[in-house]
Amino acid sequence: MSSFFIKVFVPGPFFEPLVYVSETPIEAGMRVRVALGSREITGITDGETEKPKTLKTIKSILSIIDEYSIISEEQRDLVQFASDYYNAPLGDLLLSSLPAPIRRGRPIPSAKTESGLARPCTYRITDEQSKAIQSVDESYHRFQCFLLQGVTGSGKTQIFSELIHRALARQQQVLLLVPEIGLTGQMVERIREQLDGQLAVSHSGLADGARARAFVAASNGVADVLIGTRSTLFTPMPRLGLILIDEEHDGAYKNQEGCRYSARDLAVVRAQQRSIPVVLSSATPSLESWHRAELGKYKRLRLSSRPRQRPAPLMRLIDARQDKPRDGLTDASRRAIRQTIDCERQVLVFLNRRGYSPVLMCRDCGWVPECRHCDATPTLHKQPDCLWCHHCDHRSKKPIECPKCSGTNLIAIGQGTKRLEEALSTSFSDVPIIRIDRDTTARRRAFQKLLEPVTDGDPCIMVGTQMLAKGHDFKNLSTVIVADADQGLSSADFRSVEHFVQLLTQVAGRAGRYQDRGQVLIQTHQPDSAWINRILRQDYDQIATAMIAERMQFNWPPSSHLALITARAKTLAPVFNALGEIAQKIRALNSPIKILGPAPAPMERRNRQYHGQLLLLGKRSVVQWVLKVTGPWAYKRYGKVLIQLDVDPRNLW
Ligand code: ADP
Ligand code: ZN
Ligand code: ZN
Repeated sequence: MSSFFIKVFVPGPFFEPLVYVSETPIEAGMRVRVALGSREITGITDGETEKPKTLKTIKSILSIIDEYSIISEEQRDLVQFASDYYNAPLGDLLLSSLPAPIRRGRPIPSAKTESGLARPCTYRITDEQSKAIQSVDESYHRFQCFLLQGVTGSGKTQIFSELIHRALARQQQVLLLVPEIGLTGQMVERIREQLDGQLAVSHSGLADGARARAFVAASNGVADVLIGTRSTLFTPMPRLGLILIDEEHDGAYKNQEGCRYSARDLAVVRAQQRSIPVVLSSATPSLESWHRAELGKYKRLRLSSRPRQRPAPLMRLIDARQDKPRDGLTDASRRAIRQTIDCERQVLVFLNRRGYSPVLMCRDCGWVPECRHCDATPTLHKQPDCLWCHHCDHRSKKPIECPKCSGTNLIAIGQGTKRLEEALSTSFSDVPIIRIDRDTTARRRAFQKLLEPVTDGDPCIMVGTQMLAKGHDFKNLSTVIVADADQGLSSADFRSVEHFVQLLTQVAGRAGRYQDRGQVLIQTHQPDSAWINRILRQDYDQIATAMIAERMQFNWPPSSHLALITARAKTLAPVFNALGEIAQKIRALNSPIKILGPAPAPMERRNRQYHGQLLLLGKRSVVQWVLKVTGPWAYKRYGKVLIQLDVDPRNLW
């Protein structure tokens, strides 16, 4: 009997497929059961290979699950690219790109789609909209990345509907990515309204079975449109003709578990590999995309007006140096909340709490330390007790009194926001308080359920993080309070201002969408900050230009590329030793690359572990080369220290 040697991708830290033996030939892209160590697992075949030198350790393929290949060559190419670029094992990536039942070797389920309602659009497309549609439509047969930049409510989603309509007329499929589970429902409703075809939906809030059926619907071509969150990007679509990314600046496109890929960036790669157009849409594009549009690499499509003119919300600063917040809320904010509730409207109190890194601030005058060597705000660290600049590695002693006003009210900002929720429920015990964050919405459908009273329009106060800022259409919301603007402006991360501006624009977009003019109250100890004033002018291009100038000056992205190597362990010493060793290896390469660290992570203690980091900064090709020769990176361990690699990190902690 003849033997065939089959390459099989298995989960785990393997950068190459493992070789198994089979009595029959097996084509690539089929699921098989194989033994790995003492376990039996599902792997994916990668075609035949030559007879290995030693046959002793070769195991047999236990069974073949599929009758035909379920992984297209295109999907394989995309995952291969991601594996190379992010230094992650291909098998892991390939398997994690499949819905759970399929990954676990269950039978392929039947496809499931919903039919579009095919209702005609009830209004006339504006000239700007029609120009944008034309532009994308004309390049249907080649790769081109578009940046659709338009304020909230300028009709970007309507453009998506039109583009989908045209792609379907050409028998093509369309992939539409949205950042959050909470937003898929809304997007599906909008798209389904005018869609004349079949729609499938996939996101992590769905049951595994439903995701698998959407996967099948897209990969066998039954679904014309697939709407989903980041991992949906990897779904095979044989007739794919267009990729649309909503809110492209959103952090949710960056995967933060396992391989740290960016679904947005990979979407552009996928479009390139397939020679089709891709549209990135946002009111506040990421500086990377914005910059590429300036350079002409991406084609900018601009929507400058709102078809149904509604005034932008009124933005007002509250000087927290004068009106000192109690439990996170100033008196002015309390009054505004009361007035809003009395008018039977809703309030949103916004906390920018995620990704918090402590920064020192004077409560009396708003002073924030500045690094002696750069324009950055150093982070407050406890081990060792100091201010540490993560832009240049400079360390200085923590002052005892404020150098500006000699006050001794120096506090770590970003803290105390937890108390805010409690404070709200004491001061406004007569109104429902709805808290929305990752903890309260972890369960399936929890989000929709929580928001029911809000959608019903009754007066209430919502308290929440990022999740609430995005795209939601709260008809009765008229007042937004930004509780901790200081943190957004002074955090140690070089992207903090960018993220803050994006958030603020989105949060502001929630207020007064329907009736009266909305208001946004911004509590800050730094009302004179240049950034705050730029933000108040609500001109994103102007802000982006200023931000780019600053980034160029310090050689931060997009003028360079980053890779972040993080290490964690129970204690500090081994973390620094491991990172020191890696840094030394990299220095020995003598490449034109800047190494920052080893340094404590901006937030050094998390989950009872000590976190340290090493930041590489340089040209993309050089960063890639350095990682390649010092890799492989996945699951790297130095004794008890766990190392993780993040190429193009979004946050520096
Ligand atoms: P965005 O996605 O940019 O926030 P949408 O596409 O959701 O904007 O449009 C905002 C609102 O304006 C929606 O209610 C939509 O129905 C409406 N709209 C979009 N295009 C037009 C148009 N050409 N004429 C009138 N109303 C429009
Ligand atoms: Zn002071
Ligand atoms: Zn510095």
